[in-house]
Amino acid sequence: MEFSELLDGLNDKQRQAVAAPLGNYLVLAGAGSGKTRVLTHRIAWLVGVENVPESHILAVTFTNKAAAEMRQRITATLQRDNAQPLFGMWIGTFHSIANRLLRAHYPDANLPQDFQILDSEDQVRLLKRLLKLHNYDEKNFPPKQACWYINNKKDNGLRPHQIDDHDDRSEREWIRIYQIYQDACDRAGLVDFAEMLLRAYELWLKKPLILQRYQQRFQHILVDEFQDTNNIQYAWIKLLAGEHGKVMIVGDDDQSIYGWRGAKIENIQRFLQDYPNAETIRLEQNYRSTGNILQAANQLIANNSDRLGKNLWTEGAQGEPVGIYCAFNELDEARFVVAQIQQWQENGGQYSDCAVLYRSNSQSRVLEEALLQAQIPYRIYGGMRFFERQEIKDALAYLRLIANRNDDAAFERVVNTPPRGIGDRTLDTLRQLTRERQITLWQATNLAIQENKLAGRAATALLRFMELINALEQDSNEMPLFGQTDFVIKHSGLYQMYQQEKGEKGEVRIENLEELVSATREFIKPDEADDMSDLTAFLTHASLEAGEGQADQHQPSVEMMTLHSAKGLEFPRVFLVGVEEGIFPSRMALEESGRLEEERRLAYVGITRAKQQLTISHAESRRLYGKEERHVVSRFVTELPPECIREIRLRGTVTRTFSQSSNASALSHSGINLLNQSQWKMGQKVSHPKFGNGTIINVEGSDNNTRLQIAFQNQGIKWLIAHLAKLEKI
Ligand code: ATP
Ligand code: MG
Repeated sequence: MEFSELLDGLNDKQRQAVAAPLGNYLVLAGAGSGKTRVLTHRIAWLVGVENVPESHILAVTFTNKAAAEMRQRITATLQRDNAQPLFGMWIGTFHSIANRLLRAHYPDANLPQDFQILDSEDQVRLLKRLLKLHNYDEKNFPPKQACWYINNKKDNGLRPHQIDDHDDRSEREWIRIYQIYQDACDRAGLVDFAEMLLRAYELWLKKPLILQRYQQRFQHILVDEFQDTNNIQYAWIKLLAGEHGKVMIVGDDDQSIYGWRGAKIENIQRFLQDYPNAETIRLEQNYRSTGNILQAANQLIANNSDRLGKNLWTEGAQGEPVGIYCAFNELDEARFVVAQIQQWQENGGQYSDCAVLYRSNSQSRVLEEALLQAQIPYRIYGGMRFFERQEIKDALAYLRLIANRNDDAAFERVVNTPPRGIGDRTLDTLRQLTRERQITLWQATNLAIQENKLAGRAATALLRFMELINALEQDSNEMPLFGQTDFVIKHSGLYQMYQQEKGEKGEVRIENLEELVSATREFIKPDEADDMSDLTAFLTHASLEAGEGQADQHQPSVEMMTLHSAKGLEFPRVFLVGVEEGIFPSRMALEESGRLEEERRLAYVGITRAKQQLTISHAESRRLYGKEERHVVSRFVTELPPECIREIRLRGTVTRTFSQSSNASALSHSGINLLNQSQWKMGQKVSHPKFGNGTIINVEGSDNNTRLQIAFQNQGIKWLIAHLAKLEKI
């Protein structure tokens, strides 16, 4: 391997990091300065030049997608063909690496071989059930809060008996809830995300020989996005590195955005204290964004205090100013974004160049509707995930029960889906039994039937359910995974149930179920999953990948995502929407001290995703949670340097500035005449090319922002945007 090839396309500072002598390093640098690129080249350097065996390298990325990309780039840099992938190297997220460890050492980690992963939704569901069972009032002990409490303790390495209750009654209750929850998980062989990390950590603490083996193996540890590691992740890395491991971390304190989830920016300084010989390398040249975008980002983040301090510059073009659009309301905003995307495409750009970023997931719906109406393909990255859709989770729950009868979360999900007359009362009896006897729901069902604890009808229904699960397994266990999946979907009753669901929704669900079969067909078992059954390997994949791969990967689509999931990514054309006080910064951040700076870092992350063009929009009025509210533009907009921004005004608009005091006019920016306003009336019968005939039952807004609520004869009630909907009066 030639040195020069590995150093091509790097600046001096980057080369210094890539070709540094073996040791501990912190690469501290702002957004788009090539941190991830450096990490990738460093790994290739270790293998290609330092002759480090691949299997001695462990690299941690923030998403599974980033891990796949990194693997691919290292392979390319080392000029391997894909026939020789990097077998022994471990590249993945903290979670996927922890999972891999636990699978390999399940007896030592006190787990069943086929333990299943409990995602956050399942976790809340399980907690809800347990809280009810143990007579906790949901008002005082909300399941979500319990979830947060437990994960937070786990992130800090704490088991119930290690928590100090400070003689506080409510703290004692939370500790008890944590214990109840953990017992239930352990009985059922379920592992939540925080548990994965904690178990992997405890495994090493309890089994020094295992730790030693991995210390000898992974002598080189590299971590991307280090500013968002939490305590347990930090401790885990430190244990693994031991006395002799070489650690290179890369990060940017200005991009730490998971403080609310336990991430600790301080880990960067802690690293420097724990590794006094570590050298810090700073990169300052930005290769991603135009001058205007970069300057806007730099000036914004300068409003934060307590920064490690960085200076980012670019040799690139100044580019266009950052566009600021003040919309009349959320519909106007969505329509504006869609029009801009269309324009981008008409000018030769790709849909996939465009990303729409928002503060919270619930903001996507209006944008989705507008994109759908305009027939622009889009993907939601990390949002309404394929593996999280109701019908998919139902099907997966059957598969999980087949793999493990004691999976309580799966049992709960499908015992009465499709409905088979097993009501809440029956389930309550079973839940009670699980508590009294410390057993799982499946075991409780057996017991309840044997001991005649149930009404005859309920007992028969449950017996049939158990027979069904047993039969599904027996009849399908010789089949390949995709055949098994197809068989289970068809014979569990799910397929028939969703077929009966009327209209488009039902159709989509059936399509999704079919897509699940395709997913199992395309599934390639990763080499680390060698000892797992195909089914368990796939279920693990489904839990880990949820949200990262979306339906059709091949069609160029607009990418939509929350600001949080945009970290590390880049796009030529970026839209930041809903940039209003109370949304971004979020209301919660405004109420809690110390949160505002994290929101500003999030804005910094958002702005620095853009390569060529950035547009920020806000609405004067917004319907949120069913209430129309006046909104003022976010302070993050007013903090941008005036010379880098330009207000976008559409033809015929009323002139105004976007200063905070501006809420003067309720006129639409599109400035269309107001005569059409009453074109649509309640009670009017209309016909829609796709949804057929219906009746208008509600009219909102005016002009281009008119929204109609229509009760369609066969398609249910829908909200449509009047001027886009191609409606005809009948
Ligand atoms: P973030 O903080 O957002 O994660 P980063 O510091 O990891 O950003 P990269 O994603 O590695 O930055 O790089 C940003 C962009 O700049 C990428 O498109 C990358 O390919 C490009 N780039 C990095 N270094 C160079 C270089 N020396 N010459 C040309 N392009 C570069
Ligand atoms: Mg990066």
